[in-house]
Amino acid sequence: MHAMMLNKIGGPLVWTELPDREPGPGEIRVKVTACGVCRTDLHVVDGELPHPQVPIIPGHEIVGRIDAIGSDVGDLVPGQRVGIPWLGHTCGVCLFCAMQCENLCDRPIFTGYTRDGGFATATIVDARFAFPLGDEGSDESLAPLLCAGLIGWRALTIAGDSMNLGLYGFGAAAHILAQVAKWQGRSVFAFTRPGDHATQDFARSLGATWAGGSDELPPQTLDAAIIFATVGELVPLALKAVRKGGRVVCAGIHMSDIPGFPYSALWGERQLLSVANLTRQDGLDFLSQTPQMNIVTTTRRYALQHANEALADLRAGRFNGAAVLVP
Ligand SMILES: [Zn+2]
Ligand SMILES: [Zn+2]
Repeated sequence: MHAMMLNKIGGPLVWTELPDREPGPGEIRVKVTACGVCRTDLHVVDGELPHPQVPIIPGHEIVGRIDAIGSDVGDLVPGQRVGIPWLGHTCGVCLFCAMQCENLCDRPIFTGYTRDGGFATATIVDARFAFPLGDEGSDESLAPLLCAGLIGWRALTIAGDSMNLGLYGFGAAAHILAQVAKWQGRSVFAFTRPGDHATQDFARSLGATWAGGSDELPPQTLDAAIIFATVGELVPLALKAVRKGGRVVCAGIHMSDIPGFPYSALWGERQLLSVANLTRQDGLDFLSQTPQMNIVTTTRRYALQHANEALADLRAGRFNGAAVLVP
C-alpha cells in the first residue's frame, strides 16, 4: 500500500510505500476510494491537538470497499462500501461510554490522529466503527459527509429547535449543513469573512436566506448559531445575534482564545456549548436520512499524491466546499 505520511509535525506529507497489513480480530481492511480533507487534518499536521503523534497517516472522511475481513466481524462482507469517520474506537467501559456519550470517551482512538487514516490506498479499521454506505451517490460526493456532514449534524441536533439558524464560517461543514437545515424547513443565515462575496454567493446558491460578513448582525434575530470557523472572536458576535434562550454551538475541535465579553451578552438564558466528536448513533441517524435530503456536495478532487496541495488550498481558502483525495 501507499500513503501520504506525516513524519514530522509541521512537515509536509510524504508519499510512502508500506507493507500491506492484514486485519486483526474485529478489524477490516478497506481499499480507499476517496478521502475528504478536513480542517482537523490541518490541526493534526500543525500539532495543534493534544499529544500529537507521528508518524501518522491523516484522513478521517474515508469511503472505500472492504477487501479483507478479520475474525469476529459480524455482518460486513467483502466488496461492501463503507464510510470511516473520525471516531475510530471507544473503550466501552468508562463513565461516558456507559452514559451513551461515547463521543466523550476517556480512552478513544481517532482515525487519522491516533490511528492511521485514509490519506492512503488502504486502511485497517475497527469494524464496529465503519458505516455501511449503500450504493447511492459517488464515493467522492459521500466522503465529506463522514466528518463535515456528521459533525454538522451533531451540532445541529445540539442547537435545538431553531427556525432561524446562523452558520459562522461557510466551509465544508456549513455547505452541507445549510442543505440539511433547508430540507428540514429552517432558514439559514450564513456568515463569512467580511467582504468574502464569493462565499456569500455560494451560501445563497445553497439556499441561505441571507449571507453576510461575520461582523454584521443578521436581518432577523437567530434562534441558534453554530460556529465552524476556528476564530474565538466569533463567540461574542454570535451571542449578540441570538435571541434570549438561544444557543451558540462551537463545532470546531480547535479555536483561538475567546475574548472577554460583557455578561449581558450571555444573560437571558443564552447558552454557549461545544460539540465534541460523534457517536455511532449520530452516524446511523444522519446517514440513514442523507439519501432523502438530496445533498449536493461541492468537491474539489486531488490525486492522493497531491495531498499537500489540498491542505495548502484549504488553509488559504482557495475553494468552496470540500477537498477530496482520490488514490
Ligand atoms: Zn469510553
Ligand atoms: Zn474532520
